[in-house]
Amino acid sequence: MKKPIAGFSKLSKSEKIEWIAANYTQNPQESKKILESYWNSDSRLQQLHDEFIENTISNFYMPMGIAPNFLINDRLYAIPMAIEESSVVAAASKAAKFWEGRGGFRTTVLGTEKVGQVHFIYHGSTPKLLDFFKNIKPTLLSEAEHLTQSMQKRGGGIKDIVLKDKTGELSNYYQLHCTFETQDAMGANFINSCLEQFAETLKKEALAHPDFSEQEKQLEVVMSILSNYVPNCLVKAEVRCPIDQLDLTQDISPRDFAEKMVRAVEIAKVEPYRAVTHNKGIMNGIDAVVLATGNDFRAIEAGAHAYAAKDGTYSSLTHAKIEGDLFSFWIEIPLAVGTVGGLTKLHPLVKLNLEILQQPSAVELMQIMAVAGLAQNFAAVSSLVTTGIQKGHMKMHLMNILNQHNATDKEKEAILAHFKTHTVTHRGVLNSLENLRK
Ligand code: NDP
Repeated sequence: MKKPIAGFSKLSKSEKIEWIAANYTQNPQESKKILESYWNSDSRLQQLHDEFIENTISNFYMPMGIAPNFLINDRLYAIPMAIEESSVVAAASKAAKFWEGRGGFRTTVLGTEKVGQVHFIYHGSTPKLLDFFKNIKPTLLSEAEHLTQSMQKRGGGIKDIVLKDKTGELSNYYQLHCTFETQDAMGANFINSCLEQFAETLKKEALAHPDFSEQEKQLEVVMSILSNYVPNCLVKAEVRCPIDQLDLTQDISPRDFAEKMVRAVEIAKVEPYRAVTHNKGIMNGIDAVVLATGNDFRAIEAGAHAYAAKDGTYSSLTHAKIEGDLFSFWIEIPLAVGTVGGLTKLHPLVKLNLEILQQPSAVELMQIMAVAGLAQNFAAVSSLVTTGIQKGHMKMHLMNILNQHNATDKEKEAILAHFKTHTVTHRGVLNSLENLRK
């Protein structure tokens, strides 16, 4: 019978490990060994990682790979990707190479606006509230100036504050809907600090407002928080080429291939079951770059999927069309990312990855990520409409199966050679391994 623990956070790292291993694992000695084997031998580096989060007991490794040959707006990139799923880096690399020979990727940033809201409840007259807001708007801005000065110097800051009447959706619910430019930062802390200041000013000014009744003066701020839905922090990435250059495989003519690609995207546009998986594939590429650059993948995921549902039905984030002899394939996706702040200057691998990416600004990083997502989707959908996804995927998964069964280097070599000409299945790999070991 397990017992709750009080003061876990106050225990030392080794006491935490002792406790978790003893209370929640079958073999505490072995568990401790596993946890310790993932510690970094450089104690300074280990401490840095320990201090990223709370109650740290070990590090959780994720492979980091490189997808080279991404030609983006005529500049060549090698993109670092951190991801646990086999075949993603290979697919990205394959798509990058393919498009590198066909003019590469073109990208445009359509907007960089971030959003935050002060949600509040007000019992009273809406016209009076609108009037009050008009009066206090300059004060809302001026009282936040101590927070916004350096961002303004960089060319960013608060763009606007709008009072929104949301009483149609929820009784007495209003909000300050605020927009920001946060330059090279994702902006969570800047935005949240501004919002909390707006909330303070709002409450103070309401209390002192001579036209408000006693009830109206008591407006209740429920919360002040940025939104991860950023439809105006948007980037477009595109590839296009004459159809006769779509000579990916001998098995299908370039025109048939182009038509199948368009049809596959159309299906993902109208069928949410397909759209979710279609977009998951896009996020394979994007999340891997988001992670490798120390950005917040939960924020990116939430915003991307909300955008995919913006027209009322969950739909594809990519688009494809044929115009005459020209095939185009593009993505439009909101990406609020940073190249300063968060982990970006703290995690040595993140710093290195930003160097590999040629020290991008946040706006450049948005474009690189969108391209990674588009490349991933091109690779996935082109496999789906031709050979099927499993052929490539299982080939990449083969090494995982071999490692699961502790194959030696010699066994791996023999089996990899065998499966160059045979279909990979889990059972097939085990049979080969058993045969070798007989
Ligand atoms: P930081 O607060 O770490 O860094 C951003 C700050 O860096 C800016 O506010 C600015 O402060 C300074 N800065 C220095 N140079 C620049 C520049 N060129 N452009 C812009 N700012 C610059 O990071 P963020 O506010 O971006 O927050 C990101 C983190 O917040 C992520 O790790 C995320 O996980 C986390 N987070 C996410 C939430 C969410 O998504 N819902 C909620 C809360 C946290 P100054 O102007 O004062 O110099």
